[in-house]
This record gives sequence, structure tokens and C-alpha cells, in this order.
Amino acid sequence: MFFDDYDTPVFRPPSEANSFILRVTRGCAHNKCTYCNMYRGVPFQVLTDEEIARQMALAYSYNRDGVRRVFLADGDALVLSTERLLRILHALKQYFPHLQRVSSYAAPKDILRKSPEDMIKLREAGLKLLYYGMESGDSVTLKAVNKGVDGPRSIEAGRRVVEAGMKLSIMIILGIAGVEGSERHALETAKAISEIQPTMLSALCLMLYRGSELKEQFERGEFHPLSPGGLMHELHRILENVDLPEHCHTIFRSNHVSNYANFAGNLPKDKQRLLVEVQMAAEELDKLKTWDVYNDDRY
Ligand code: SF4
Repeated sequence: MFFDDYDTPVFRPPSEANSFILRVTRGCAHNKCTYCNMYRGVPFQVLTDEEIARQMALAYSYNRDGVRRVFLADGDALVLSTERLLRILHALKQYFPHLQRVSSYAAPKDILRKSPEDMIKLREAGLKLLYYGMESGDSVTLKAVNKGVDGPRSIEAGRRVVEAGMKLSIMIILGIAGVEGSERHALETAKAISEIQPTMLSALCLMLYRGSELKEQFERGEFHPLSPGGLMHELHRILENVDLPEHCHTIFRSNHVSNYANFAGNLPKDKQRLLVEVQMAAEELDKLKTWDVYNDDRY
């Protein structure tokens, strides 16, 4: 369900397909990551209380009892002040008696602007799940793609979410460091995952989107992407170096539309099986003669 009538794109995680998408901002306050074109050309804007209340009232009149999950859009709703978010979460509880969970995307800088106490207050008010595009744990890579934080800060952001008792879904991007940075990206990302111990981990493959700086760098010959097999070898390096304690049940998925092969399991329980499957996929994909067989937008 989506009730904002403003004509700019709306993005949400696949797992929020049945949620009420409540837009509280438009665009992304950061909007500088070189691989991302999601909100290019969309001036960042915080919606007014009236605009937010109007969407809630429409959702209420449309399906009051059916709203169990709410996703706060757009790109980084956590940029709002804690007080404002608490007011929104409180209003959602008033409107929707069967509400079970509120979630949103969260950029690392926005997480770090919240104190640990703020994060606990938000969780207690109903914000139970954050989707965090960490992309890499490697400072060199994060700087190159203009993520706005270095490796240690990206780990600190993830830890802050977990320590507040929220669920944390982390996305990493295979191939984001190109050929030259692949090994460093793999090792530092594995280290970050091991330290953060996220609830969910998704590995996407890099896509070079039209209008992104990274695609322009590729076209100028400044960025050298990994082959499909190289992406799988990188995933293998990440998984073999992820070191999670036995009590962790991190749900691992690599089944995004960008992926050349799909994998699913729990970490650390299924680590050895996943390593075998990823190695087999790498060997198959190494045989490919052309790279852009799956998606025109890729390279
Ligand atoms: S990746 Fe996320 S934080 Fe970066 S520009 Fe895109 S929406 Fe904003």
C-alpha cells in the first residue's frame, strides 16, 4: 500500500512487499554514493506532519485492520530527528491496532547520529528492523564510492543497531571494489560482518546503472569490474573469512536480481555447504565467454 501521490520513484526491500509504505522523506539526504542512481534528480525533502498524517489516514480508511507492517520511505528515514520519529511511531500505533513492526532503510551516518539511548527508544516505540546498505567493510572502497563513512564507522553503525535490540539486515555488494580491490574488500567485509553479527545478510552483485558516477568511471576505463566468476570467487573469500559464533543464526541470502547464482542458508551453521556451492558456481561462471548475458544494465 502506498498513498503519497508525488511523482518520484519509491524503493522498498522485497520483503516489504505487503507493508504499508509510509513516505516520511523524499529522496536521499546523502545522495552521493557513486554506484547508486536511485534518487538522482530527486531533491531531498522531509515531508510535513500533514503530508504524513494524510497517508496514515488513507491507509486507515483503506485497510485499518490489515496493516501489520509499515516501511518508512524513502532512502534514509532515520535522518529525521528521534523526537519526530517517535511521534510518527506513536501515531502509527494509534491508527493501526494490529501493527507488529516498523522498518526503514538506514544510512550509516544517520545511525551514528543517534545515541545508543535514542536507538533503544526507537526500538521500544516499534522500529524493529533496519535495512543497512553497508556495501563493504573496507575503508578504501567506502571512500572510493563516497559512502560517507570508513570501515570502523560502518561497523560501529551496525553494532549500534544490534545492541539496541533491533533486527539488522545488511547488504553487501560483490564487485564494488573492482578487480584491484577485490581481495581487500573481501577480507575487510568479512571482518565487518563478523563484528556486527547481523540478523540478515544479503550479497548483491554490482550493477553499473545509467547516470551513476561508477558507470562513467567504467566507461572512461578507470574502473575494472570483476567477471561473473570473479564475483563468485570474491563471495567465496568473504564467506570463508566470516567468523560468527555458534549462537548466531544470521540468515544469508544471495538471490537478488543482480546475482548470477542464488544461495541461501544460515551462518555459521551452513558455511561449509555454502562454500562448496559458491565454488561450484565460480567454476561454472569462469567458463563464460561473455559477461553481459543476464542484464543489459550490467557493464
Ligand atoms: S546507496 Fe543509499 S545512501 Fe547511497 S545515495 Fe543511494 S539511497 Fe542514498
